[in-house]
Amino acid sequence: MMQKNECKGCVESVIVSEEVIEELLKEAAETPEKLVLDSVYQERLSICRDCTSLQYGTTCAYSGCIVRYRAKFKRKACPNIGNPKWSKVV
Ligand code: SF4
Repeated sequence: MMQKNECKGCVESVIVSEEVIEELLKEAAETPEKLVLDSVYQERLSICRDCTSLQYGTTCAYSGCIVRYRAKFKRKACPNIGNPKWSKVV
């Protein structure tokens, strides 16, 4: 079960396998009311893919979050406070 803040401590390492990511995405799918539309999700991921802060192709250097997971949630925003590249959905 996810904690109140879905990103903090979601995984033990910043380098994660596809299997772990799939498991996180399955958990996210259990609360569809918290998730953005797929078009928003794809746009967020597109921005992350072009971002120099994306590490290992999976992980945001600012938050340590797996972007494919973080980008799913309406109330999450890009954690680069000085220059956020995508916003929460309200
Ligand atoms: S969440 Fe923001 S800072 Fe992190 S990889 Fe995506 S665009 Fe870059």
